[in-house]
Amino acid sequence: MLDVVIVGGSSAGLSASLILGRSLRDVVVIDDQKPCNRFTNASHGFLTRDGSPPSELMQIAYVQLEPYSTVVRKTATALHIEKNDTGFEITSSDASTLQARTVLLATGLHDELPKLNEIEALWGKSVFHCPYCDGYEVRGKAISVYGADDAAIHLVMMLRNWTDNLTLCAADNWKLTAPQRDRLTRFGIHVVEQPITALERTGAQIEAVHFDDGTSVRCDALFIRPKTTHRTTFARDLGCKVDEHNVVQVDLRGRTSIEGVYAAGDIASPMRSVAIAVAQGAAAAYGINADLIERDFS
Ligand SMILES: Cc1cc2nc3c(=O)[nH]c(=O)nc-3n(C[C@H](O)[C@H](O)[C@H](O)COP(=O)(O)OP(=O)(O)OC[C@H]3O[C@@H](n4cnc5c(N)ncnc54)[C@H](O)[C@@H]3O)c2cc1C
Repeated sequence: MLDVVIVGGSSAGLSASLILGRSLRDVVVIDDQKPCNRFTNASHGFLTRDGSPPSELMQIAYVQLEPYSTVVRKTATALHIEKNDTGFEITSSDASTLQARTVLLATGLHDELPKLNEIEALWGKSVFHCPYCDGYEVRGKAISVYGADDAAIHLVMMLRNWTDNLTLCAADNWKLTAPQRDRLTRFGIHVVEQPITALERTGAQIEAVHFDDGTSVRCDALFIRPKTTHRTTFARDLGCKVDEHNVVQVDLRGRTSIEGVYAAGDIASPMRSVAIAVAQGAAAAYGINADLIERDFS
């Protein structure tokens, strides 16, 4: 019987495993090596590692976890988690079944990109979702925002911090209200309410956005708000409370609404950031260790 199985071994999961390993807890981390930021060349905003490739952050984490013999990393996909009288049974793609007193869900999000031609080739390189992650590198440049609702207005207004060369591209069936349009144009934001026909690019660098009416805008970076879904259904299957934005509800120590189930990182935060995922992973580890101590002394 393990103390913890951590499903997802990226920023949140590995951070938790470090604290749990240092607490001499028996931990297995199951990970299938598909962190959401694998599409970008440089991860920004994590103090001491600003601008490092995400894979480098993971390599450093693996090396620093090596001395902790009670932490085992396993490359597999967790397929099923069953709650039983003693804890949890976790089945994986390598046909193994683990028993654990607690589980930490750190499985992250899947980004569903809008259906624009060849956007996959640009994602994380010149098509971004987060101004805090990538705004600085494109400051002062020509930035477009593409979206289908008021979230795009919020995003384009936010990007005004980084450039005044901004275009809002409204997705096919979305029409802005007259006050919304006036407000943006008053601040020099160009609004286009035409379907996008093509994203012009050189390799992974976007060059221009082309519209249905034959017009186009030069573009150094395109920001979008992708639709996000949980990588797994574990949180819902186990009965954890999830809010209307699909965020697993946790307390400050990562406890979900289900006893013994903890969550950290993108699935449990309205803000996506390596620093926040690392912090949430550490906080969940504190919570797990505290709760196991409480159980052992009862
Ligand atoms: C394109 C892009 C660029 C970004 N750039 C930045 C940046 O510059 N700075 C910044 O701070 N943040 C950035 N972010 C956000 C940041 O990457 C996330 O907030 C962070 O990775 C969240 O960590 P996490 O551990 O919660 O999830 P993830 O990093 O997504 O990791 C989840 C892990 O769980 C694993 N997993 C999922 N399901 C299973 C399963 N069933 N079995 C086994 N393993 C499973 C996955 O393989 C993955 O390794 C970026 C995000 C994207 C999409």
